[in-house]
Amino acid sequence: MSRSDRTHAIHAVAARPVPGPAPASRSSPDDFGCDVFGEAAIRKYLPKVVAEKLLATVNAGAPLDPAIAADVAHGMKEWAVDRGATHYTHWFMPLNGGTAEKHDAFLEPSANGKAVFAFSGKNLVLGEPDASSFPSGGIRSTFEARGYTAWDPTSPAFIKRHANGATLCIPTAFCSYGGEALDRKTPLLRSIQALKRATTRLMKCFGLPEEPVRVTLGAEQEYFLIDREFYLQRPDLVQTGRTLFGAPPPRHQQLEDHYFGAIRPRIVKFMQEAEEELWRLGIPAKTRHNEVAPAQFELAPVFEELNLAVDHNMLVMEVLRQCAERNGLVCLLHEKPFAGVNGSGKHNNWSVSYGRRNLLDPGDDPEQNSIFLTVLCAVVRAIDLHADLLRTTTAGAGNECRLGGNEAPPAVVSVFLGDQLGEVVQALAHGSRGSARRAGTLRVGVDTLPPLPRDAADRNRTSTFAFTGNKFEFRQPGASQPCAASNMFLNVMVADSFDRFADQLEAAGPERLHDTLQALLRRVFRKHERVIFNGDGYSADWAEEARKRGLPNLRTTPEAVAPLLDPANQALVSRYGVLSKVEMESRHEVALEEYGRKVAIEGGIALEIARSMVMPVAVDCYSKAATTLGRAVADGLESGVEGLRAQAERLGRGLDALSTRCDALHKALADGGSAGILAAMAAVRETVDSLEHDADDAAWPLPKYREMLFLY
Ligand code: ADP
Ligand code: MG
Repeated sequence: MSRSDRTHAIHAVAARPVPGPAPASRSSPDDFGCDVFGEAAIRKYLPKVVAEKLLATVNAGAPLDPAIAADVAHGMKEWAVDRGATHYTHWFMPLNGGTAEKHDAFLEPSANGKAVFAFSGKNLVLGEPDASSFPSGGIRSTFEARGYTAWDPTSPAFIKRHANGATLCIPTAFCSYGGEALDRKTPLLRSIQALKRATTRLMKCFGLPEEPVRVTLGAEQEYFLIDREFYLQRPDLVQTGRTLFGAPPPRHQQLEDHYFGAIRPRIVKFMQEAEEELWRLGIPAKTRHNEVAPAQFELAPVFEELNLAVDHNMLVMEVLRQCAERNGLVCLLHEKPFAGVNGSGKHNNWSVSYGRRNLLDPGDDPEQNSIFLTVLCAVVRAIDLHADLLRTTTAGAGNECRLGGNEAPPAVVSVFLGDQLGEVVQALAHGSRGSARRAGTLRVGVDTLPPLPRDAADRNRTSTFAFTGNKFEFRQPGASQPCAASNMFLNVMVADSFDRFADQLEAAGPERLHDTLQALLRRVFRKHERVIFNGDGYSADWAEEARKRGLPNLRTTPEAVAPLLDPANQALVSRYGVLSKVEMESRHEVALEEYGRKVAIEGGIALEIARSMVMPVAVDCYSKAATTLGRAVADGLESGVEGLRAQAERLGRGLDALSTRCDALHKALADGGSAGILAAMAAVRETVDSLEHDADDAAWPLPKYREMLFLY
């Protein structure tokens, strides 16, 4: 039998040169943000008054003066052209999970057959892309095909480079003719406003002077890298982003030797290149390391203002993908590209600050302690009341393979506080208990909290919503999912808690602040403590315990997105003007439609691979085994005949099952139900994976897990 394409791929990977260390050289922090129209560029390229007005909008959220648009556009274009750009685009986040761009040249024909580069204020502020090919969940059809993109001056324009030029990208929001949000940025911006207002109101109750509120996000990004040669031999990866077949190799992640291990030369070269590109885009990529699964890695930036951090995470994913390709690698952002090893998530580190004060920093004086406990309590209340709403944002065909699996966070949303803080909360809710004697007498606003540990050892990695020292870390979001949706709902849920608390504190007045607060925290913690869980979130016991506590465990995508239709959720989100009932319904429809389509694509490609790649090899191997067996019997061979017979039978039975199960998958695809397709795919996979063990290795058409995960 001739060598398979797969074997050629292995040889090609083996022939790749291993990059040696670079000579000692320069990399300067001065390049940070050089491709961003940030404060330095604004001051350099805009007239002083215009620059001041724009910076007031960018830094302090002042409304944008429309009169400056033309000047800003001109200066921005001059800057971009100086940096090599010839085109511009409104850059936005439609509901398809990615970003969108449509380039227009600055070029304008002028007199005498000549041309100039020009960019008008109108083109900066407003675009009118055809919206009809973006998901809208039914909104579009009731109005018209046109959509509008509107400049978001709070996220700076930036330059995207390609092989022979560059494009000026202008972050924008994307709405329908009727003003409904067709994107992820519009409602995110609305939710940030809502939370800022509620925070200001609550802080006023503590007698604090008005200060700027900042919602912050640090999005840790996990991903896999595999060699492009293997990727190209895997139609399932090319079409769906995950492997639909592949027997678990004897060695995968059980030796626990990959996490934080030395980073291989080829990978670290890629990381360095990606990070330098991110730095030029003003993205503070900070941490890089090997993750738990083989061939899995993580990138973490320094946290930033939420809207900017969300845009930056979209760029992080894009830069990782493109940079991998340049390095002969493929970056897989799917939530579960390989069965049986860890999947990839996106840890969503969220916090709110007021002036220079991080409201989730416990601090070390009674005043900061009482603010901290209030905010903590507000978040606990928010999660207990609306965990289902938060869960809708992590739904999807990819993350469904990850959440609730063996190596992943559960689909239940629970809050981890850690032992010490857990005891403080116990003490506040029920009086002193256990070792929390000091905390037992805790008088809010008067006493100081016992010191809370801030070290990583106390961090529970199995919790879905964990307090980690000075922020909450939501670990359910999938690696490929934009950060916008989770934070949008989180902001609204917490704004609602802040407002309910403010109602009571305002009614009580400043003299009774501490007494009112004490009673309020006690009542609210008692009511919502069921959502607090400090144990092992991956254990089966927890699923059972969560059920007893009445916490939702929404496993499948259809279940997980249903809360978007819940009238109480719709009332909350629309009360804050973040999404109307119609917009919530449209998002529900978009999510279900996308899920159905993705599952159908997976089923289709699984069937094609099984029938056109695996079946012929299995037929060949069976026929060879059967022929050999016949000859061995005819020749009167004795020892070994039973082994040959067993081998031929395994292959024959596999072939038999493959054919029946493919027919069942074919039927499920015709029926169209997602659950049926997934079940039929799982059955086909079982057979294919078992054939992988018995078929001739040299003929096996799909790169194996042991190759993809280890040869790079
Ligand atoms: P890990 O959780 O992996 O131990 P860190 O706690 O250092 O790592 O940080 C994880 C992420 O949380 C980083 O992106 C970091 O910038 C971010 N982060 C830290 N403080 C805040 C904050 N106040 N608001 C939002 N994100 C934060
Ligand atoms: Mg983390």
